[in-house]
Amino acid sequence: MNIYTSHQQKIAEKIQPSADLKNWKDWKWQLRNAIKTIDQFEKLTGITFTEKEKQLFKTTQDKFPLSITPYYLSLIKKSNYQYDPIFKQSFLDNRELIVSSSEMSDPLSEDHDSPVPGITHRYPDRVLFLVSNVCAMYCRHCTRKRKVGDTDHIPSKSHIQVGLDYIKNTPQIRDVLLSGGDPLLLSDEYLDWILTELRKIPHIEVIRIGSRIPVVLPYRVTDELVNTLKKHHPIWLNTHFNHPREITDSAKEAINKLANAGIPLGNQTVLLADVNDCPRIMKKLVHELVRNRIRPYYLYQCDLSEGLSHFRTPIGKGIEIMESLIGHTSGFAVPTYVIDAPGGGGKIPVMPNYLISWSTNKVILRNYEGVITSYQEPTNYETTICDRNCKECNLELDIDGACEINAIGIERLLSDYDETISLIPSENERVERRDTSYE
Ligand SMILES: *Cc1c(COP(=O)(O)O)cnc(C)c1O
Repeated sequence: MNIYTSHQQKIAEKIQPSADLKNWKDWKWQLRNAIKTIDQFEKLTGITFTEKEKQLFKTTQDKFPLSITPYYLSLIKKSNYQYDPIFKQSFLDNRELIVSSSEMSDPLSEDHDSPVPGITHRYPDRVLFLVSNVCAMYCRHCTRKRKVGDTDHIPSKSHIQVGLDYIKNTPQIRDVLLSGGDPLLLSDEYLDWILTELRKIPHIEVIRIGSRIPVVLPYRVTDELVNTLKKHHPIWLNTHFNHPREITDSAKEAINKLANAGIPLGNQTVLLADVNDCPRIMKKLVHELVRNRIRPYYLYQCDLSEGLSHFRTPIGKGIEIMESLIGHTSGFAVPTYVIDAPGGGGKIPVMPNYLISWSTNKVILRNYEGVITSYQEPTNYETTICDRNCKECNLELDIDGACEINAIGIERLLSDYDETISLIPSENERVERRDTSYE
């Protein structure tokens, strides 16, 4: 595979005259030579800005710093760069300084839902564990922008140990999602230590890694790294491709290594205005992903983080994209479109409506072509009342009920064994006014 183009060679030599392919493919060389200044960006890309533009960029950079790997920079096309999806995701935009009234520094309340530093425990059975504070590239659309440029550091073992202890002492957790920063920027040894410690905890069933490394620094995916990861299976990995142009030969090589190591791969795309807010680009992206054994997992609505307003699209754009995918292409190429609820409510899936109406006998549905169809409900279905006593049920699940988490939310309203009949917001005035003497 042609992983070193003459364009990349020229960039490498501008960085270091003696640089060769070996340097270029060395992930530490890439990190050491990450582009952090506007002047250096101009020098390496040949793109030039006016003094006035540069001054404005500098103000933006003071708030949200710049860092681009030479590899990712090499994917920018100089002609038409203003519209280039790689440029837009990696280079400063003065609109980052605009803070609209609905935006927040921590819209997902990740810092709030944090029982110990580094852990966000939002869902009953899984946690987000921030194990690295370092990124190879600073994505301009980062939802944790508030943390970017905090001094880059690898959390110490004692810091990580606090998170590990929390996980160890919380038996409901069965799934740990390592994120950051980028977990794959830890050394192989450090990652090995964290994974070994997690694997010692009996209730941990799966470990997931969220990483943009295959996109921005594919050379980090070495044989040694892959061998380290596969010692700790089941390991799943979600990456973050946003545009088909990012799926290069180098990226494919990295993905191939991970997939060959038996790591199921998923992808989380962020819907970004002027980058990928187009049904055709999205379809091309998901096709390229599945061709390379990556399952599109989530399509994210852009968060309400400060400085991202120029990246945000209406939710309608996401629905339009989903409409163009569902039914039109392979089911496993279709991601789930989610909105991460501001305030910490977690991910909420949204999609076009396919259920048009229903009666007790029939359900009316429409398909992707607009065909309207009816489904006859069964007439002989025996309604079962579930008391959660699996031992006396013919369905033969027979699990130990003690380890089950009680139903919450709508699941609880639907259940037969819980007497809750409504969910009422805590500040409901009508309920507060109620005369409690009748109760
Ligand atoms: C996204 C996320 C998860 C994982 O959610 P899944 O839907 O299981 O992928 C877990 N914790 C937090 C805080 C998250 O934001």
